[in-house]
Amino acid sequence: MKTPHLHAVQFALAFSLCLTGSLLNAAEVNVYSARKENLIKPLLLEFEKYTDTQVNLITGKADALLQRIISEGKHSPADVLITTDAGRLYRAQQAKILQAVDSQILKDSIPKQYRDPDGYWYALSLRVRPIMYNIERVRPKELTTYEALSDSVWRKRICIRSSDNIYNQSLVASLLVHLGEKETLSWAKGLVDNFARAPQGGDRDQIRAAAAGQCDLAIANTYYLGKMLASKDPVQQAAAEKVKIFWPNQNGRGVHVNISGGAVTRFSKNRESAIALLEFLASDKAQHWYAQTNFEYPVKAGVQPSQMLENWGTFKADSLSLHHLGELNAKAVMIMDRAQWK
Ligand code: FE
Repeated sequence: MKTPHLHAVQFALAFSLCLTGSLLNAAEVNVYSARKENLIKPLLLEFEKYTDTQVNLITGKADALLQRIISEGKHSPADVLITTDAGRLYRAQQAKILQAVDSQILKDSIPKQYRDPDGYWYALSLRVRPIMYNIERVRPKELTTYEALSDSVWRKRICIRSSDNIYNQSLVASLLVHLGEKETLSWAKGLVDNFARAPQGGDRDQIRAAAAGQCDLAIANTYYLGKMLASKDPVQQAAAEKVKIFWPNQNGRGVHVNISGGAVTRFSKNRESAIALLEFLASDKAQHWYAQTNFEYPVKAGVQPSQMLENWGTFKADSLSLHHLGELNAKAVMIMDRAQWK
């Protein structure tokens, strides 16, 4: 008599366990990342482990991902957008594909200048764009500021990539804030006059060219040098060892910095998980991982940088609020164009 009843109880128990299980696993977050899979996946796996949230990752080129979220509109499965450059995050915000997030954890972890004033995006790592000089051709004493690179003593000695690259657009946007339009234009003209060759290739190519003596110095992001130094390819390593970093503008505003960052998308269906993920990426552990793996600088104060970053020494960073880089992007592009920066 009792047996069927017991079965029913067992069945009910099993059913409810199953339901609880599926509820626990219900948390999900969809990430669209312009960062390569190996630069984000290990952190996402950690997040999955800690929070029991399933993370689905889509990677792609930054501008293509923005376009994709725009065209998916309301039906976009994206919850989180991760991309590089403040200029691009601003672009996403202008395209109305992001939503504001008000998180005390994010506000406490990320300095004000590295997040959008209205909470539409938050920096997750810092990327520094100093001068890198060939140690046989330039003495650090000869270097001072970005501004000084337009001086005729540097005629045909400078390598830098093209003006369609957003890192350079953001650098010029920062000069627009600090120097104004007229001075930035004449600086850009002087710099272009000092190019050793027509811009070609990426940052790494500029470092290689400086190392090979095709130019005496380059402007490039530090993590590229880090990757070359850590490379298993002895050719890359040897090239990297021929250049050194010079931190410009140290007696003034500081070296130009940019960010990689994250945002919650406007039509996110998993808002809570999306915010939790951003908070996780701003945690000490995740911040240290960035420094260790991609040689970027932690955005959070007090996080231990990697040995490589420590070797490069400390520097003063420009404290400019980075949303200006986005606001002034169009003007920066126009200035570069007028200076005939190819
Ligand atoms: Fe890059």
